[in-house]
Amino acid sequence: MTEMYESMGISREVADFSEEILEGLKSRFEKIDERAEYNQLKVIKAMQDARVSAECFETSSGYGYNDRGRDTLEEVYANIFHTEAALVRPQITCGTHALALALSANLRPGDELLSVSGKPYDTLEEVIGIRPSRGSLAEYGVTYAQVDLLPDGSFDFDGIRQAIRPQTRMIEIQRSKGYQTRPTLSVAQIGEAISFIKSIRPDILCMVDNCYGEFVECTEPGEVGADMVVGSLIKNPGGGLAPAGGYIAGTLSCIEQCAFRLTSPGLGREVGANFGVMQSFYQGLFLAPTVTAAALKGAIFAANLYERLGFPVVPDGKEERHDIIQAIEFGTPEGLIAFCEGIQAAAPVDSYVTPEPWAMPGYDSDVIMAAGAFVQGSSIELSADGPLKPPYAAYFQGGLTWPHAKLGIMKSAQRLYEKGLIKIPQC
Ligand SMILES: *Cc1c(COP(=O)(O)O)cnc(C)c1O
Repeated sequence: MTEMYESMGISREVADFSEEILEGLKSRFEKIDERAEYNQLKVIKAMQDARVSAECFETSSGYGYNDRGRDTLEEVYANIFHTEAALVRPQITCGTHALALALSANLRPGDELLSVSGKPYDTLEEVIGIRPSRGSLAEYGVTYAQVDLLPDGSFDFDGIRQAIRPQTRMIEIQRSKGYQTRPTLSVAQIGEAISFIKSIRPDILCMVDNCYGEFVECTEPGEVGADMVVGSLIKNPGGGLAPAGGYIAGTLSCIEQCAFRLTSPGLGREVGANFGVMQSFYQGLFLAPTVTAAALKGAIFAANLYERLGFPVVPDGKEERHDIIQAIEFGTPEGLIAFCEGIQAAAPVDSYVTPEPWAMPGYDSDVIMAAGAFVQGSSIELSADGPLKPPYAAYFQGGLTWPHAKLGIMKSAQRLYEKGLIKIPQC
């Protein structure tokens, strides 16, 4: 094994240090495997109950009428997310699109959207109109209000009570911290917030941005009362195989609204060809619990290794996980760049290219990104990025297999080591 790692450019110092860190993580990894086992059974059962068959993988074109594969997959998703219905489509281009669809389909002029988990994910700012944009909810007369999380990252129940107004129609809760440093919300916490909101006004719709959270716990927000649960298929539930797509699982009435908005009033869920992606959607979903477990192990390994090296990490090495994102603060541009170079160098695809910081639309500083992915932009595959400004934090996520996630972290540490940016503690 040591020789194999040496042939991959990992020195004995880094390899030994990594093994020492991993020694201490055995029981945590066992728990992750247990959850993956539970979630794997949940997925298999949902597929069996929906009588998934080889026919479901057939391609459809044109209108896509009577697409059994598409309809059955939506039944499987509804079952896994404990909702009445679901919309799972390649026509939903990404997570942002799925969220924009869920919002615009269920809000009408004069309604108010209330976020109770603080500032929503960056790309939603233009969807909502927090940053003005063509076609935003604001342009259609939907207003927006926000209640921040308390300093300890929990819901501000008093603030929520005060913010609910007669025109409040929908509440948004973002499970994952995204690229903020607040803690990620657990499904149990989300459930408490939903119960609280429904106790004040049962008619308020509760939507959960579930991106990066799927299969991290044994329950999903649909089980604790969410009216809509929304995510991307190039994150956890696509299992690395889905080439694109998004999902919305929710109440029948919310999903019908979404379908009429996605296709057309009157057509709804009945149309939408599958273009031959069905096998990858099913097989990706089948793999998603173990893929998510691999990504989680990578995140925990990274947190513990870099914490030992003295860098601030969020979540810390010991914290319970509710999503797969790991932030590491390097404090210097050199550290952030070396980390991303290491992640890139470990990839099966494009390992020979060197990531460079670059100006990106929507960012006020240069950004460096590392990804050598089979599916472009897929962040369930091993990837990292970070803006070139203090605290020079890298956001790291994904890894379709645990050995690949492990190699990525080791390569990153190797790169920092070779550049003299870290000292390996003596075992
Ligand atoms: C990734 C993400 C989104 C947006 O998904 P895209 O597929 O990148 O458009 C929204 N919310 C959260 C919390 C995310 O992590």
